[in-house]
Order: sequence, then structure tokens, then C-alpha cells
Amino acid sequence: MALAFSSTFAPRLLSSRLPKVCLAVSADTPDEMLDIAESMARDNPFMEFRLDYLKQPPAVLPKLRRFLETHQYITAIATCRRAENGGKFKGSLASELEVLSKASAAGCQLVDLELESAIKAKPDALARLKKGSALIISFHDFRATRNPDSTLEKMLRIPADFYKIVTTATTLFDNVTMMKFLQAQHDRHALIGLCMGEQGIISRVLAVRAGSVFVFGAVSAQQKTAPGQISARDLRSIYRIEQVDAATKVYGVAGDPIEHSLSPVIMNTALRRENVNGVYLALHAKTVKDLLHCVREIPLHGLSITMPYKQAILEHLDNTDAHTAKIGACNTVVRGQDGKLYGFNTDVAGVIRPLEQRLTIENAKVLVLGAGGAARAAVFGLKERGAEVWILNRTTEKAQKLARQAKVRTIKRADLRKIGFDVIINATPVGMGSTRDCPLKEDEIQAKVVFDMVYDPAETRLLQVARAKGIAVIPGVEMFVHQAARQFEIWTGKPAPAQDMLRVVTIALQERANSRKPERGNHSS
Ligand code: NAP
Repeated sequence: MALAFSSTFAPRLLSSRLPKVCLAVSADTPDEMLDIAESMARDNPFMEFRLDYLKQPPAVLPKLRRFLETHQYITAIATCRRAENGGKFKGSLASELEVLSKASAAGCQLVDLELESAIKAKPDALARLKKGSALIISFHDFRATRNPDSTLEKMLRIPADFYKIVTTATTLFDNVTMMKFLQAQHDRHALIGLCMGEQGIISRVLAVRAGSVFVFGAVSAQQKTAPGQISARDLRSIYRIEQVDAATKVYGVAGDPIEHSLSPVIMNTALRRENVNGVYLALHAKTVKDLLHCVREIPLHGLSITMPYKQAILEHLDNTDAHTAKIGACNTVVRGQDGKLYGFNTDVAGVIRPLEQRLTIENAKVLVLGAGGAARAAVFGLKERGAEVWILNRTTEKAQKLARQAKVRTIKRADLRKIGFDVIINATPVGMGSTRDCPLKEDEIQAKVVFDMVYDPAETRLLQVARAKGIAVIPGVEMFVHQAARQFEIWTGKPAPAQDMLRVVTIALQERANSRKPERGNHSS
């Protein structure tokens, strides 16, 4: 690699030696900034200090010097990005350069100067900066991913040690653009490249394998310095970014919205536990077309499909299993070695597996509430296993149509008490979130087992009432785990670690219930 390293460039700053994750540290006060650095130092030997977040950036420098002297293993980047270029520093270009020189003298081995400032700075000022530290020239596009090649061309006019291009993904395919750029250019230049935004997650996890020297990680999910930033801890522990290599298979859950999906935590746990070289991402697909482009180009080896694409994906599949065709909805896609797409519906396994652990399904009398996609999976799956099924739905015609297709019966609400059900399954969203609604009245809940597909909250009103009546309950989280476990098996051919999957998703639901704090700031990489 032909890099113009300055004479003071320590060997540990070579691209291959730098850690793959740089922790972006921001704070309102110098003390808070150093407290964060101190508390995160053990796991994060590489940190960026966002000096521009401080009211008086120079005030932190003596403390930063002491911190770096006492933590010699830390590699530090100093950044003092000006407000007009997407940062928070209100001072002049001269002040920015002065802060960076002083940060360099305080021990920061790298300094980040945005392209707009670098163009305006005098060459000798840049040369002085480069003498003390490695220089990163950075470019941020907060709106789109345009043409990274032409941006780099402009940047190369300024001699530097690293060139950082951070754009915004407005489609999933923008990540492909960024990664192709990195793949083509990283042999010639030391590059840092990624896409911001919720849709940029693909590049945050895969950019290093495409050729980015490192990526940025947040201090926590609440303390981000850029839109879409993932915490450094999650990058390492959930996405195992340090192990992602050319052979890593990429999987994902595609939907809109997708931000709150629990699938990444459950699937990455399963991949890690079973030693599968794979990573699983939340893909915010605004169109099926965008998703399909990425399936081919990244490539994606397997997809979980969620709302609103379970039906829309069908016409793009080369083949499906019998369940998917009957149900008319697909929640699992496999990309075969031939590049063809095969569809499955694992919601059926999600309903059947928890039930068969509790009772014999054959001849069991089952009431299904709802007639949407999840109800269809339950009705067809149960009928196939020999259960007697009744459907009750808000819109009667939909219940009747499904009953005709699956050759089962509908039931009127007034008649519920006439049949002694073995199982009641709620396949409506009633009870989701904080509503505490219940799809049936207390005296209508009469069965041996009550199964609520709703899994957030973990304990719905329906389950509470059933439990109080001494009825065995199946929480929606079990369905979530079993449908995911079946996906895992289809993709990897290995049995899924269902107990571990259940454990992590239960913890995640608990954490979600506990905290939903606003995120800090929203500028830069
Ligand atoms: P869907 O296709 O939109 O169907 C929703 C069904 O619920 C429809 O039959 C609808 O009746 C009925 N419904 C909606 N709001 C209602 C209300 N206020 N009162 C009475 N009935 C109502 O949704 P879906 O994909 O089948 O999902 C249904 C539920 O299952 C969701 O809560 C989803 O999160 C959950 N689910 C869980 C898992 C899991 O792994 N645990 C997997 C899949 C789904 P109409 O026909 O009258 O509109």
C-alpha cells in the first residue's frame, strides 16, 4: 500500500494494526468526556475524541494528555469539526487548526480535519499538523450517497495519511455503492468509508471487510455521534465485526419499519453459539426492488421477511414450500448456490412446536382469533396436523374465506361457550404495546392452553387472565423463537440453540420495557 506516512507515524498506526472499531466519545464537559474514556478504556483501545462537542475544546487538553499518558495502549483521534461542515465547533478555521495541533501535542496520534477546512487551510498549516500526528481528511454527506470516487479524487489533492468518506444511505443499495468503492480503492489508499442512517447498517458491519481501515462505534445506544451508529459493544459482541471476513455469510431481516426488530439479537446469538461464520442485519427496505438488488450484490444468503413484504416477496421467488404456497405468505428466503430464491413459511413451526410440547395436536379443538397472515399459518398448520379448528375474526367474511380455503369452521362470538376448546390462539394484535386490551372477556377464556402470538409485552392481559384461571399459557415469545429457530435450521442445516435464543430475546424485551431514552446529538460518522 503506497501511503504517505509522516516521519512520526508509529507502526501501530499502520492500517493493518489499528483496531477495527473506533469508539466515538462525545460529552458536554471535559470531566464527563474523560470519565467516559476512562470507563470504556479497557475494551476500547481506539477512541475518537469529539472535541467539537465541548463548549471550550482547549479546556479538555491537559486532562486528555494525562489520560493518554496513563493509558499508553490507547490510540486517539482528535476531531474538532466546524458547525458549517456538520460538526459542533463554532470557532474559526484558525481556531480549529490550533485545537487540533494542541490535541496532537497532548498525545492524540491522529487528527481528523474535514475536507472543507483542509481546502481552505494553508499548506504549511497542514504540513505542521501532519508532522505531529497522522492526518485524516474527512468528508461527510448528510443527505445521500453520491459518487465516492469523485469525492476521493478531490480529497487526494491534499496529502494525508487516511481519507474518510462518510455518506448517508437512503436505500440499502447505497451500502453496495460504498462497499464497491472501498473494494476498488483500498489497495491504493488508506480509506475509512461507511454510510450513516438506519439503512447504513450493512456498511457499518461489512465496510471493514470491503476495505475500510476501521469503522466508528458509539459509547452506547443512547450516546451516538452519528445517525445509525451502532454501539462499539454491539459491533463486537452482536455483530462480531472482528471476525467478519470474506467467507462470512450475510443474513438479514427485511421490513419497513425494522428499527425495533428483535431478530438481529436472537439470530446473531444463534450464529455465534453454533459457530456459524455468519452475521445477521436489520434491513430497512423501502421497496422490494431495493432489497432484491442487495440480495444479489452483497450477496445475502438468507432473509427473514416481515411486514409489509410477506406477500409482496412471493412473485420474486423461484420456488416455495407447500406451506408458503397455501398460506400465501413467506417469512423466510434462502438464496441457493445457483442464485435462485426459495421461500418458506416458518410461522407454522412457530405455532406447532410450542403446542406439541404441551398437548397432542391431533383431534385437539383449537380456536384461532384473527384471519390475517399469522392466523393463516396457524390454521393451515394445525389442520394439517389433524386438529379441529374454528376461526373467529372481527371481519366475518375474511374468517369465512380462510375457513373455506383450509376446510375448517368459523364460529360466532356468542357461540364460544358452546364448545370446550383445548387451545385458544390469539393471532390478532390486540394486547400489543401498553394498551392492556384483551381479545376475549374473562368468561370467554375457557381452554386447557391459551397461546398469545403477541410478544411485546411479554406478559399480555390475555395471558394474565388465563394464568389467573389456572390455564396453561404459551407466550408469543415462544412462537418468535421457534419460527426463528426453524429459519436458522433452513439456512445452516444445524439444530438451533432455542434455549439461548429464548434467553436473549427475553432479556431484550425486558430491557426494552425498562428504557427508551432519547439519543444524544446527530452529527457525523
Ligand atoms: P395481520 O395480517 O394484519 O392480521 C391481523 C388480524 O387481526 C386480522 O384478522 C384483523 O382482523 C385482526 N385484528 C386487528 N386489529 C384488531 C382489533 N382491534 N380487534 C380485533 N381483531 C383485530 O397481522 P398478522 O401478521 O397476522 O399478525 C397478527 C399478530 O400476530 C400481530 O400482533 C403480530 O405481531 C403477531 N405475530 C407474532 C409472531 C410471533 O413470532 N410471535 C409471528 C407473526 C405474527 P380484520 O380481518 O377484521 O382486519
